[in-house]
Amino acid sequence: MQHKLSGKRALITGSGRGIGRAIAIELAKNGADIIVHYLGNVKSAEQVKKQIEALGGSCSIIQADLCKPETLEGFIRKIGDVDILVLNASVQYRNQWENISLEEFYDQINCNLLASMLLIQQAVPYMRKKHWGRIITIGSVQEAKPHPDMLVYSASKAAQTNMVKSLAVQLAKDGITVNNVAPGAINTDRNKDVLEDKEYYKKVTDSIPAGFIGEPADCAGIVSLLCSEEGRYITGQSIYVDGGKCL
Ligand code: NAP
Repeated sequence: MQHKLSGKRALITGSGRGIGRAIAIELAKNGADIIVHYLGNVKSAEQVKKQIEALGGSCSIIQADLCKPETLEGFIRKIGDVDILVLNASVQYRNQWENISLEEFYDQINCNLLASMLLIQQAVPYMRKKHWGRIITIGSVQEAKPHPDMLVYSASKAAQTNMVKSLAVQLAKDGITVNNVAPGAINTDRNKDVLEDKEYYKKVTDSIPAGFIGEPADCAGIVSLLCSEEGRYITGQSIYVDGGKCL
């Protein structure tokens, strides 16, 4: 059977765990060849590869620290053609705004904004050659409702979406769509510790109209749609997957 993403190659940054992993598996189920990217957790990345291969899919793995933009030179050339680029990895620090250090600022801006731009710069020439491409950034509900202790994180995500809108206009004629998917509170490793605090858990769920915390798979369906032919006329959008939390 021909799947809707057969013949497409997809790089998903930060796809050894969490939302990135769910996206990688969903795109693999739809026939895409997957490149799993990770920072330090090679075991998780290998598990995703095994899972994808068990589904009959093809998968390779690549490591890079997206906080270090200088290491990204030639990154996409090493991988080869990329039809689908999902910019999912991010760095998030909790700190009161008065105490944010230069290092915290640069790590978050480098990974969440600069690395996205550099990878897009490298991937677009391949997409242009084929007159087909899908770029999806993973944003956050914090673009609409910034958390007081995540000043730089929320600003980096809002800036990334601004970049998406500019690029959507500039790349539309090349057959490339560019969109942002903005999750709300999702059950992943990054939230595990804070959500174990019952009081904080209640505060978070009370702030979500749907009344519950989402799962990584909740974010994967929309990414798959945006990557497919059904998504070809959707560009420059920021789509919240947040149980209504942004409202
Ligand atoms: P996660 O479980 O914390 O996983 C983060 C992934 O990013 C891991 O694969 C990690 O690699 C990789 N990563 C971390 N730092 C990196 C760096 N410096 N360079 C390269 N890769 C790095 O994340 P998640 O919760 O699934 O979040 C995925 C995306 O959704 C992020 O953009 C996040 O901002 C956004 N988001 C999440 C939530 C939520 O509630 N979870 C809410 C809103 C938005 P290793 O596995 O090797 O460590």
